[in-house]
Amino acid sequence: TKLKAAAQVSLFHSLVTFKTLLQSIVSVNKDPSVHGLIVQLPLDSVNPINTELVTNAVSPEKDVDGLNCVNAGKLSRGDLSDCFIPCTPSGCMELIRQTGVSVEGKHAVVIGRSKIVGAPMHDLLLWNHATVTTCHSKTADLPEQVGLADILVVGAGRAEMVRGDWLKEGSVVIDCGINHVPGVSGKRVVGDVHYSSANQRAGFITPVPGGVGPMTVAMLMENTVLSARRLLLNNGPSR
Ligand code: NAP
Repeated sequence: TKLKAAAQVSLFHSLVTFKTLLQSIVSVNKDPSVHGLIVQLPLDSVNPINTELVTNAVSPEKDVDGLNCVNAGKLSRGDLSDCFIPCTPSGCMELIRQTGVSVEGKHAVVIGRSKIVGAPMHDLLLWNHATVTTCHSKTADLPEQVGLADILVVGAGRAEMVRGDWLKEGSVVIDCGINHVPGVSGKRVVGDVHYSSANQRAGFITPVPGGVGPMTVAMLMENTVLSARRLLLNNGPSR
């Protein structure tokens, strides 16, 4: 999907094998004709891979997925205009914005604390002035925490875990989950939220598929265009 979207807006892309991954990243970092670089996770290999080493090898200036620790650090400190924000949380913020519900002063609950979804989502909501609770697999009473949420963002990777009767009436529910479960005719995709029951109580709710997923791709395109603009302003056009 990301490659297709990139082609549609005329962004060039290339795929490399793991063997040459680090060298390839360094050479792409230096290539003035490339403005954005993402490492598609999880990295697939028979041997364990130090993912952190790979994502930190991406130049912070071209890190359009926002996974380099420099960008993550800036986001966690609230320097939102001076960093790349990971695309899924950025897309979630845009979806929340489009509901017209103000984030400021609201109680937001995030389920999940991964580097790509939960942790940056927490930071984004916090620096948009929500009061944020982040839940994870050791959270003692998940339904109770969820019940306090004016805004709920779920990125747990657990099919239909959040039930409608956990939700605060009228809350904004953003479901990042992508889970493949058996269906009547083969597999079907469901989120981390039980949509039909949650839809009865939520004020706004994103569907799966068709909610956060396409927004993530749109944010990747936006970050890449932003990166190109910044690099061209700072360095001039490449020859
Ligand atoms: P991940 O790295 O596996 O992280 C899952 C997080 O959920 C962890 O922090 C984990 O807690 C927490 N968790 C797991 N089970 C839980 C439970 N029963 N109660 C409370 N918390 C629980 O996954 P991820 O990469 O963040 O992805 C999360 C979901 O989002 C997946 O379904 C993934 O496919 C989807 N996703 C979608 C997009 C998109 O474009 N739409 C992009 C990225 C990810 P611990 O930290 O304690 O283990």
